[in-house]
Amino acid sequence: MINTLDTNYSDRLQQVHNRIHAACQGCGRPDSSVTLLAVSKTLGIDAIQAAHAAGQTAFGENYILEAIAKITALSSLAVSPPLLWHCIGPIQSNKTRLVAEHFDWVHTLDRLKIAERLSAQRPPHLGPLQVCIQVNADGSLSKAGVPPSEALALAQAVAKLPRLRLRGVMSIPDASEDFEANCAVFAHVHAIFDALNNVGMGLDTLSMGMSADLEAAITAGSTLVRVGSAIFGQRPPHAKG
Ligand SMILES: *Cc1c(COP(=O)(O)O)cnc(C)c1O
Repeated sequence: MINTLDTNYSDRLQQVHNRIHAACQGCGRPDSSVTLLAVSKTLGIDAIQAAHAAGQTAFGENYILEAIAKITALSSLAVSPPLLWHCIGPIQSNKTRLVAEHFDWVHTLDRLKIAERLSAQRPPHLGPLQVCIQVNADGSLSKAGVPPSEALALAQAVAKLPRLRLRGVMSIPDASEDFEANCAVFAHVHAIFDALNNVGMGLDTLSMGMSADLEAAITAGSTLVRVGSAIFGQRPPHAKG
């Protein structure tokens, strides 16, 4: 485990908050309109604990089994304020129960079947699982997410599931070097979000923007940025298994 970097997390977190602040100022939004999700995939619990000690409470994880190990280890430490866990990776049907039992949020719903399983498997003693529909906004074939034309139908079906609470839309467009080009793709995601709200879906979460493009995402209306490397530095690779 790398822990020589731990003492930097509070500076790095502050730098990310400064970037969020500057981006919000640039478009006349309050800082409080943007949530920072710290993406801790492949990092050890020491890194998560250090970020938590520096004030971070919401963490994003991509790999389910790795995440469950960390969530379980940290829950036995009874940290306060409690950590919130967001699943931002793909979910196979054989992992839905683990996700329903351990996470607070899921950003990556793109199939009704997965949503139905999550709702059915959400334990009664927990509140509803907070979920976002993932939209494939730039239409790349390799990527997860529903095509924009199918977002409304999926959102309406998900909104009916009793143990899920539909909160918004998530997207992972490819970042380019060009701020304006990034803004244009994010604006497209925002338009999909608006279209769902225009038919009364009452969504409040637009999950878009990462280390490289959070300014463009905030300018285009993001309410939640998912930031890994700008906080934790370069990640160790994912150990497959
Ligand atoms: C890894 C990851 C991030 C964070 O990426 P960085 O470039 O390290 O900020 C955000 N969102 C998703 C879905 C990811 O998989």
